[in-house]
Amino acid sequence: MVENKVAIVTGASRGIGNAIAAKLASEGYAIVAAGTSDADKISAKLQAITRFGEPFAYVRADVSSEAGRQAIVDCALGKFGRIDVLVNNAGVAPKVRMDILETTEESLDRVLGINLKSTFFLSQAVAKVMCREVKEIAKIAPTIVNISSISAYTSSTQRAEYCISKAAISMTTLLFADRLASEGINVYEIRPGVINTEMTSVVKDKYDALIDGGLTPIKRWGQPEDVANAVSVVCSGLLRFSTGEVINVDGGFHIRRL
Ligand code: NAP
Repeated sequence: MVENKVAIVTGASRGIGNAIAAKLASEGYAIVAAGTSDADKISAKLQAITRFGEPFAYVRADVSSEAGRQAIVDCALGKFGRIDVLVNNAGVAPKVRMDILETTEESLDRVLGINLKSTFFLSQAVAKVMCREVKEIAKIAPTIVNISSISAYTSSTQRAEYCISKAAISMTTLLFADRLASEGINVYEIRPGVINTEMTSVVKDKYDALIDGGLTPIKRWGQPEDVANAVSVVCSGLLRFSTGEVINVDGGFHIRRL
């Protein structure tokens, strides 16, 4: 077993997940990074994580499949022997934005499979490992972090399946937080707003204009590092009497204003 704490971060091949993995590596975590990309094609992104010299493994795995999720857990246990942190970050927007009256079953299945089913069943698989660990490893404080979105409570009728997946991640967080509290495992939801990544690059002009026009009290794009810092805080061990908490990382978007 490695001496480091071990964190699994899904969707770590770019964007928010890459920043989260790099932040946790900078704090001394061994990292299991997962994504569907070929490792050769994302070497620069992986280097952002490995530059801190901590133990590292990349698993090419689709989190919407049972086999993919099992490969991630097997890698963490096989290579490092323990799991302290799971960050369910991998997520997709619909391939095509479509009015809710036209949304297809195929798109709904795809988005729910990658965003929601992965979060639910990877949490389930990792929680079982963590339940054993709290009995076997002294002072371990296992933590599960789910990356949702302001779309958990904000309607976008052009991407209903995304909003539904994120709302369901909020309930998934509460359910696991409730079930796992007595096991000594804390569960948190991080709720990002508009963050500058590939996912939002297709709507950059729209969001530039909205932010300029006052969409958020803090008038700037969020950066992947803003989300990574929030993950670092909930994994710090300083919030152990809080579970099921939501941390908004949204420039104040959630504040109702008159
Ligand atoms: P991104 O740049 O598009 O990155 C998405 C990540 O998810 C990539 O690393 C991708 O890796 C991985 N991924 C996608 N499908 C996967 C699958 N089936 N199995 C495993 N990994 C998969 O998006 P992002 O902006 O960083 O978003 C990260 C998370 O934050 C998502 O859950 C998103 O919904 C949420 N979020 C983003 C924003 C925003 O404004 N950007 C706001 C709120 C919430 P591969 O390409 O290698 O598969």
